[in-house]
Amino acid sequence: MTLFRATVLDTPDDPFTGGALRADDDCGLLVEDGVVTARGPFGALRHEHPGTEVLDLREGLLLPGLVDTHVHFPQVRVIGGLGMPLLDWLERCALPEEMRLADVEVARGVARDFVTGLVDAGTTTALVFGSHFAPAVDVMFEAAQVWGLRVTTGLVTSDRVLPEPLLTTPERAHEESLGLAARWHGKGRLRYAVTPRFSLSASDAVLESCAATFGALDDAWFTSHVNENVREVEEVGRLFGGASYVDTYDRHGLVTRRSVLAHDVHPTDAELATLAARGASVAHCPTSNAALGSGLFPMRRHVEAGVRVAMGSDVGAGTGFSMLKEGLQAYFAQRLLGDDGLPLTSTHLLWLCTVAGADALGLAGEVGDLSVGRQLDAIWLLPQAGSPLAVGLANATSAEDALSKVFALGTTADVGGVWVGGDQIAAGRWRRPPVP
Ligand SMILES: [Zn+2]
Repeated sequence: MTLFRATVLDTPDDPFTGGALRADDDCGLLVEDGVVTARGPFGALRHEHPGTEVLDLREGLLLPGLVDTHVHFPQVRVIGGLGMPLLDWLERCALPEEMRLADVEVARGVARDFVTGLVDAGTTTALVFGSHFAPAVDVMFEAAQVWGLRVTTGLVTSDRVLPEPLLTTPERAHEESLGLAARWHGKGRLRYAVTPRFSLSASDAVLESCAATFGALDDAWFTSHVNENVREVEEVGRLFGGASYVDTYDRHGLVTRRSVLAHDVHPTDAELATLAARGASVAHCPTSNAALGSGLFPMRRHVEAGVRVAMGSDVGAGTGFSMLKEGLQAYFAQRLLGDDGLPLTSTHLLWLCTVAGADALGLAGEVGDLSVGRQLDAIWLLPQAGSPLAVGLANATSAEDALSKVFALGTTADVGGVWVGGDQIAAGRWRRPPVP
């Protein structure tokens, strides 16, 4: 049992429907077996639990662990390939790198680099886009297990358009996916995600095999891409006889409450209505959208249509693992949309990077905020003394203002500690050593 003592900021109530930031100075969080069992003024909790070990985090801020709902594990080493639109970037940067994961030892090193990136950024829960090679997906699951991260991932499947080594057949995709799920789905914090790369590279036969896999697994997740780039959207329409991009998945029963589709920069109103009716979520990936020139995300249309929206880094088209940076970029994108944009406060940004992600992944009862009953997944922001963020926090006029400074100025270097389920897995430059 441990009593955390900190300034705690979180968003238990949805700011898109009027919820406010919850900011508690000198807050106590009593943590037992990884779960927050009491929360209140530190002095009162201390009085009730006089012998309990106290973890004094009063310097800096304690936030919920960050949630990344769209991040590609095989692309960690190609972050930063700027200057290309989506299809050129895939051909020149992403796909050549993804082919290297045919070698499981390469995949093991990539998985180590990837998980280190997540941990250092304070991302404690992630929906991870896997590899086209089943042994590489096994090593990704292994790496997530070593660190204790909450990871949902799976085999990426395709049967056309991509280079030949990345292609599979519907039968092989189904068999390998079920094998991976049998080894990993529901094991600790790990879950399986059925993952066709995108309709552009997945024929109806592959999507049908995805539906069979999805139907065979209890509580598995579904993820893919949708409406990212204008040229891509046109090509998908041509390949599927004029069907909308969302319909290419929906007609196979793949758009559900347990589905997360990345991007959706160019949706029709009918597609938004389908996503809302099914309860599906969209992973908004703003640094990727800007880096590839994909467009400005129509968040207002999503929110007004009732579509769930969460955040993704989209590493490696996105420019890093920091969900704080994604939050800031989401704010920028809405500003640049003018009257069509949705004005976002720092409270919206924290919600999008925590509770909204947990909700998209069906984990809102477990993580996303630091209420009683939640797992203690948290990050401790501790900027270096004298840094612009430290100066900003010292001079903040309110908790919302302090949180704005966190999104404007915070980087992965400001993450001074990371906990998952009450276990500390990183502290500054220290990381819990991987088990051999
Ligand atoms: Zn992606």
